[in-house]
Amino acid sequence: MRLGQIEIQTLLDITSLHAPMVEVFHEATREALDPYRSWLEPDALCPHTQRIRIPVQAYLVRTRHHRILIDTCVGCGKNQPDAPDWHERSDASWLERLAAAGYAPEDIDYVFCTHLHSDHCGWNTRQRDGRWVPTFPNARYVFSRLEYEATAQLGGAAFEQSVLPVAEAGLMQLVDLDFALDDEVWLEPALGHTEGHVVVNLKSGVRRAAMCGDLMHSPVQCPHPEWSPVWDRDAERARRTRRSFLERHCDTDTLVLTAHFPPPSLGRIVPYRGPGARGGFLFRYGE
Ligand SMILES: [Zn+2]
Repeated sequence: MRLGQIEIQTLLDITSLHAPMVEVFHEATREALDPYRSWLEPDALCPHTQRIRIPVQAYLVRTRHHRILIDTCVGCGKNQPDAPDWHERSDASWLERLAAAGYAPEDIDYVFCTHLHSDHCGWNTRQRDGRWVPTFPNARYVFSRLEYEATAQLGGAAFEQSVLPVAEAGLMQLVDLDFALDDEVWLEPALGHTEGHVVVNLKSGVRRAAMCGDLMHSPVQCPHPEWSPVWDRDAERARRTRRSFLERHCDTDTLVLTAHFPPPSLGRIVPYRGPGARGGFLFRYGE
């Protein structure tokens, strides 16, 4: 799609079924979900198992000056036994989708990661001769300094396989939470899901978009911004961040690009007027 002079494209890596919704959002009992089933099922909520269905995708952004990837999905060969679908995958078709979009890995100028969880930095690296090397050898990889430092302290497989090799190759650029690449691409802090989580903003002329990373995982969080998934590190802070983001973009032209909502995954925020929640928001899919 086009946003003024910016081209935006989603690159899907994988769609997985995770835990039952009520285990991810403790408030999401069958009864609490009933008002929203008509638009949650089957793409965001499996009607048979009540599990949350989550696509993992990157956004390929081409501005007048730069070719940018925002978040790099799960990747291949990564060690993550707690997520069986994501564990040591051999399916590299994501790279074919990048090629089909007209890009070789060498063509990417910047990689932005909203945060450094394993499903947002996986394709940062790939395996060559038994070592993890940056997938995009000519890119600057932009991470928030706060996120990098917190992740480095925690350690773990995602950091060692998908982040550290980028740093060691000298391709990492650590930035403040409000870093601006230029007047078309800039970050804003969106803390709570992780210590240094950011939203990536895009602007061309009067048109705006915001890639919101894991600020939300399910469209049901629009009517219920207070529902924080067990994956949010600081649930209270994540609630405040989510509500503030939804309020600011409600009834505006901002196109919201999500990491995990079902295709087409992008849309606008409008007031929610259906049954169930009061005073919440609705995600209206499409450009
Ligand atoms: Zn995620």
